[in-house]
Amino acid sequence: MFLLNDKIKDLKPYDPEMGDTPVHLDANESFLPLPASLLAELAAALPQVAFNRYPDPAARKLCQAFAAYYGVPAENVAAGNGSDELITVLFTGFLQRGEAFATLEPDFSMYAFNGYLQEARHVPIPKGEDYAIDVDSTVETCQREGVKLLIFSNPGNPTSIVCPREEVRRLIRGLPDTLVVLDEAYMDFSDQSLLPEFQEYGNLLILRTCSKAFGMAGLRLGFAVGRKELVDAVKAVKSPYNVNRLSQALGTLVLEHPPLLGEALETILASKKQLVEGLEALLKEFPSRFTLLPSATNFASLRLPDGEALRRFLEEQGISVRYTAGLVRITCGTPEENRAVLGEIASYFAAAPAAEEGR
Ligand SMILES: *Cc1c(COP(=O)(O)O)cnc(C)c1O
Repeated sequence: MFLLNDKIKDLKPYDPEMGDTPVHLDANESFLPLPASLLAELAAALPQVAFNRYPDPAARKLCQAFAAYYGVPAENVAAGNGSDELITVLFTGFLQRGEAFATLEPDFSMYAFNGYLQEARHVPIPKGEDYAIDVDSTVETCQREGVKLLIFSNPGNPTSIVCPREEVRRLIRGLPDTLVVLDEAYMDFSDQSLLPEFQEYGNLLILRTCSKAFGMAGLRLGFAVGRKELVDAVKAVKSPYNVNRLSQALGTLVLEHPPLLGEALETILASKKQLVEGLEALLKEFPSRFTLLPSATNFASLRLPDGEALRRFLEEQGISVRYTAGLVRITCGTPEENRAVLGEIASYFAAAPAAEEGR
């Protein structure tokens, strides 16, 4: 009789509780559809796409468009089927069974999951009370534990906090024998990227994605940037045709329109501002019910003891948000969606007495 092995027998398919709620503020995607002019260009280009042929394994045009947008050399870029795929590629290729990897908790759950599948040893390093990254203790722990791969997001998910560039530099320089994977999934919303200086580090890979700021979560496009020997290793490990033809074509088209991307980014940042200002007003109205972490992303993170109860209440009102690691994470949405979620949070605090929290 065939039996699933111990490693996978208790795993469940990824299911982010995509209920039938009309308002989705739970996945940190962009709320903006792609501009109509781009969709028209895509429609015109569609008949020329050779769907019967395998795509370019190196996704050259796409990597060139990405490289031009960010001002890095194209040879230092590898493309993935979402940065999620690249995370898997890094864990399978750069770690051997039993080797140690570190995460800075709380962080993106896919890191620990991939390390588990790779049968690597997880060294979870807690962030501080304020969710900041403690560089000195991280370096010390990684050295003590012989960590081969350190991966973390900056700005952080689910914390929304950005770690200053100088601190990240210190971390990378402090761990010359460790591959540091810096997941900048949200860095388009902030200004502390290390992309301009990636060449300075022989132990750094930076991950970026088109899913958050660029409104292409459905296309699954992620990128790894680093020194050539590291990026070539990523390309050697990934599956050959990992980015499909349609995603390569549309992704290239979108990245070749920086002004449109800039406009979308401005719109998202204005939405984030509306959401955060609304939450700050709620903080005045209901002091001591929650704290608001300083957001450098397209979402807000609230810390409160009754976070799961708030999440459930919002879901009952038709609004999905994420509750994880004691934080309620709310993606900014359209002005109407922001108003709706702010209104419902106010109703929740007005109705639920603080004394009943956290049960
Ligand atoms: C959303 C997210 C990703 C995944 O991005 P994809 O390119 O859509 O796979 C990776 N890292 C972090 C921290 C994220 O929040």
